[in-house]
Amino acid sequence: ATPTAVMVATGVGANNGILIKGGDALERAQKIKYVIFDKTGTLTQGKATVTTAKVFTGMDRGEFLTLVASAEAGSEHPLAKAIVEYASHFHFFDGHPPTKGNQNQGVESKFYGWLHDVLDFSAIPGRGVQCCIGGKRVLVGNRKLLTECGVLIPSHVENFVVELENSAKTGVLVAYDNDLVGVLGIADPLKREATVVVEGLLKMGVRPIMVTGDNRRTAEAVAKEVGITDVRAEVMPAGKADVVQSFQKNGSVVAMVGDGINDSPALAAADVGMAIGAGTDIAIEAADYVLMRNNLEDVIIAIDLSRKTFSRIR
Ligand code: ADP
Ligand code: MG
Repeated sequence: ATPTAVMVATGVGANNGILIKGGDALERAQKIKYVIFDKTGTLTQGKATVTTAKVFTGMDRGEFLTLVASAEAGSEHPLAKAIVEYASHFHFFDGHPPTKGNQNQGVESKFYGWLHDVLDFSAIPGRGVQCCIGGKRVLVGNRKLLTECGVLIPSHVENFVVELENSAKTGVLVAYDNDLVGVLGIADPLKREATVVVEGLLKMGVRPIMVTGDNRRTAEAVAKEVGITDVRAEVMPAGKADVVQSFQKNGSVVAMVGDGINDSPALAAADVGMAIGAGTDIAIEAADYVLMRNNLEDVIIAIDLSRKTFSRIR
């Protein structure tokens, strides 16, 4: 391709909200053999919604939701935001609407007067959060978190979580004072174009793969829905780059599409890193492509643009 062709292609990309960082990135995209998609916020809308909240002990439902929301108020995770939002609706109907506090304090939890005070908060990547409320330890997260902290998961609770996961939901488990008190089911619908894009890639001879920190059952249910057969689940944030490298082994050109801070090492490791959506600054920095429209169709448009630019016989 001539420098002019590269310039034109870059301009066409920009007009579609596809920012390409240089001619090398544009050229590599034509050879993409694997596209590895992050699940949450990339294939899915990233708008998690609580669909179920089940208490397994005698704890009052309002108290359960307050406890969980208090623990999650300090987390930036999409699951945490869904939980706080859900609990705030409960309190709204309970006669305690979220009250706007001093906005200058910047801490979102200050907006919710009904939250408990939290001590020793920590977010554990790939697992959940833990903190201390009223002198008792509170854990909110996946099985791994609870098991590692020595909380027993009764079989009827495990069965309930499995049921959620088989229907593509993420089960969030809650322990209070080392007892399992309840479970929340959280759904995050696929982007509307996701299935068509996966189909399109297959037609182009490109293999789609899904990678996620979420558990295997949920991941497989989502993958099945979108038409992806190759799923890497329960991957810790640092492990996503390893997944990219495992596909590069025989010299294959690998693209990674992701949106989060979690994804930036993988975006950097990929031959073609594509940051999607508003994304985080760090993901945008690590990427070769920025897909501003937050539309997965742009993955296909990007590959197509590169193929057309570099296959043209002059
Ligand atoms: P993904 O790769 O899908 O973005 P993450 O690595 O962010 O996933 O998280 C993996 C898993 O860790 C989540 O599916 C969830 O089970 C658990 N988790 C992480 N953060 C939280 C949180 N704040 N609250 C509850 N669960 C969490
Ligand atoms: Mg994500």
